Amino acid sequence: SAATPFTTGAPAANAPYRNAALPVDARVNDLLLHMTLDEKIGQMTQAERAAVRDLNDMAVFGIGSVLSGGGSAPADNTPQGWAAMVDAFQAAALRSRLGIPMLYGTDAVHGHNNVPGATLFPHNIGLGASGDPDLARRVGRATAEEMAGTGVRWNFSPCLCVARDVRWGRTYESFGETPALPTALSTIIDGYQGAGGLAQPGAVLATAKHYLGDGGTAFGSSVTEGYLLDQGDTRLSEAELRRVHLPPFRAAVARNVGSVMVSFSGWNGTKLHAHRYLLTDVLKKELGFTGFVVSDWAGVDQIPGGYPAAVRAAINAGIDMVMVPNEYVRFVDTLSAEVRAGRVPMSRIDDAVARILRQKFRLGLFERPMTDASFQRTFGSAGHRALAREAVQKSLVLLRNDGVLPLPPGARVFVAGQSADDVGRQSGGWTLTWQGQNGPVPGGTSLLAGLREVGGGTVTYARAAQPGQARAADVGLVVVGETPYAEGKGDRASLALNAEDTANIRTVCADGPCVVVTVSGRPLILPGTPMNALVAAWLPGSEGAGLADVLYGRAPFTGRLPVSWPRSDDQLPLNADTRPYDPLFPAGFGLTTRP
Ligand code: BGC
Repeated sequence: SAATPFTTGAPAANAPYRNAALPVDARVNDLLLHMTLDEKIGQMTQAERAAVRDLNDMAVFGIGSVLSGGGSAPADNTPQGWAAMVDAFQAAALRSRLGIPMLYGTDAVHGHNNVPGATLFPHNIGLGASGDPDLARRVGRATAEEMAGTGVRWNFSPCLCVARDVRWGRTYESFGETPALPTALSTIIDGYQGAGGLAQPGAVLATAKHYLGDGGTAFGSSVTEGYLLDQGDTRLSEAELRRVHLPPFRAAVARNVGSVMVSFSGWNGTKLHAHRYLLTDVLKKELGFTGFVVSDWAGVDQIPGGYPAAVRAAINAGIDMVMVPNEYVRFVDTLSAEVRAGRVPMSRIDDAVARILRQKFRLGLFERPMTDASFQRTFGSAGHRALAREAVQKSLVLLRNDGVLPLPPGARVFVAGQSADDVGRQSGGWTLTWQGQNGPVPGGTSLLAGLREVGGGTVTYARAAQPGQARAADVGLVVVGETPYAEGKGDRASLALNAEDTANIRTVCADGPCVVVTVSGRPLILPGTPMNALVAAWLPGSEGAGLADVLYGRAPFTGRLPVSWPRSDDQLPLNADTRPYDPLFPAGFGLTTRP
């Protein structure tokens, strides 16, 4: 019976689920008939790689999915090392009675960012500034190829959040503050999942996240001390929630996105992880989502009432797979007890498992479970770096220009600011580690190195400008910005520029024509110092030469603000579709230049 684990032998080698010629749903239905309750719960379990200390657990518990959280990497942190790690998990999973492959997932949110040497694309806010759906699709494809060579077939991307308050530390994971851009750039899903279908080489499963309203939380409402906006509560009428936050998910479902990740946030006081109406009635029934819903990292644990009640509420609400991620035995035991006690219906378990298996069949994992090492040649390749450089060019937004830009070839440039020569800073969070870090990134080109490569004139640099230093140059370039951060740590009450950057602007702009470039995950409140040009470069990633291309006029400025640029902190939150609206620069604004 379904409740008795491992009592039957393995099904015949010609069981329908093993027959690749049959339609996916026929294979899913057949496999479900063979599965015990324990095997089904195993499929619903996602464990962190470092938590799985004994590989035999993959078969003992039938663990359906393994993840690398931000920065969680094998000791051999190379594409080959990743492939060996993922394949070892896979081989262990395939030793289970039914031989069901596991699905490995990670956050490759601006390229395959956990692996040193990967091509790093601009974070989503930069792609939002490009406003270019085809570019987003191509970026998705290149990322998927770099992932495929490491064996990882599931990407926890894209974030389709509509970031309504730029004080939120995840603003840079957003394509924009109104639903139009995240909806338009959901094409990145097509890039991840492949034009020819998920089973084609180099395709990975995408995740639309975080459902729903993650970018709409109210300032100061979070229950987690120290977190101002992240994981907080979204307080909106249903009509407003649907108008602002739902459209990108509707688009993702139309693109056949394979998975949706639940938001840590709540809606009017109820955690999304327990929100049956939004997960089941809206996402699955109304939108017609046929993929599976995955929780966020220990998101189920945040549901009040104790762990058994939390697991029950989450699964009954419509979560299909739980990113446990550490104590997976506890999860398995808890869910098993809930089902045996009749508090979680077997029909809910079967629906969850069917949704997960459907995507595994779609991915061709039963036929080709192991890494396609041929894609390792695309990792950090010249072709992908050229694409990232193009993406940087198209992501830049020119906010002011009195004619100083483009710079003439051979111009003598004095560059100031730490953000000018730090690939870690220009890459932001989700780079090698979860929160990111200052300093070098393997394979990356800093903005300064890019200026030297492209410019043709003398480029001098000082992290901290001294009065008079810029006078010998034709133009001073001050690169200012933020140090890397990710969720939680990136929430800020004030977006004022730091003192070091402010001093650099004042010093350099006093000495002659000056161009200010912001390297940041969001708009910053700048000093009132007159400047000849102002460029928002967002978090461009590994290809700093893309900025130089545009500054020197080899490519035009074409980007437009994906978010409103405030005059002051006290205007926040500030969005183009709300009143009163009096920004320094409105969303959609951007000057253009011709090369
Ligand atoms: C983040 C998700 C991410 C997950 C796995 C969570 O903390 O909210 O966006 O996919 O971690 O790394």
